[in-house]
Amino acid sequence: MTCIFCQILARELPGEILYEDEDLGVIRDVNPEAPVHLLIIPKRHFDSMNSLDEKTAQIAAKMFLAAKKMAEAHGIQSGYKVLINNGMGAGQQVRHLHMHLMGGWERRQGRR
Ligand code: AMP
Ligand code: ZN
Repeated sequence: MTCIFCQILARELPGEILYEDEDLGVIRDVNPEAPVHLLIIPKRHFDSMNSLDEKTAQIAAKMFLAAKKMAEAHGIQSGYKVLINNGMGAGQQVRHLHMHLMGGWERRQGRR
């Protein structure tokens, strides 16, 4: 059985894919907790960071660089947060490694 993020990135389920390259895709979080709330998702399925090893850890660096790029593209580079929930104990709901990119609070308050 394929997971929901694998299905979205494979376009088997609807989802707004904002950016994609050979390694990862970026979608908007369906239940945003910030004015800009994106999810950076490796195309290859990993349950969580716990599944990474020496051979696959490069994907983590790519996720950070994609977060930086998306923060610039969405005009939030002056202040943004990245978050990875790992495991049920941390509140991970979707068991496919992903990074939350959140920001845009200043913009919403008109302080920019
Ligand atoms: P986590 O708790 O770290 O696993 O985060 C899962 C995130 O995925 C939550 O913020 C959800 O709002 C979001 N989410 C769940 N399903 C979808 C979907 N179909 N499209 C976009 N975001 C989703
Ligand atoms: Zn998956």
